[in-house]
Amino acid sequence: MNKVDWYKELKIPKEVVVLGATYQITITERDLAEMADHGEEVAGTCSVYSNIIEIYSDDFEEYVTEMEIREQMAKAHHTLRHELIHALFIQSGLDYTYGDDECLVDFLAVQIPKIKEHF
Ligand SMILES: [Zn+2]
Repeated sequence: MNKVDWYKELKIPKEVVVLGATYQITITERDLAEMADHGEEVAGTCSVYSNIIEIYSDDFEEYVTEMEIREQMAKAHHTLRHELIHALFIQSGLDYTYGDDECLVDFLAVQIPKIKEHF
């Protein structure tokens, strides 16, 4: 069975600076199906005060085919972009205004890389 080093595979840093604040990025193994059964349909978190971005993933050892690994990598990158938008709102003082709007956060996470191409 392949053991995947997600930090290496994902090519993401262990920390990132968002508007002057340093955030640690952690990838945490969680049972996402069990979380969903308990109504926790989250793929990650961005702490408001401790500056930690956490990306949740299923048991890494279950991802052994190329398609499964590519799917997991895309999901982790999307989650990271999503949590970075939360961090931007937090560091901008806009968390209470926009931070709970998951639709807006996700829209920006998906569209900003495409919008960036126009600048
Ligand atoms: Zn969110």
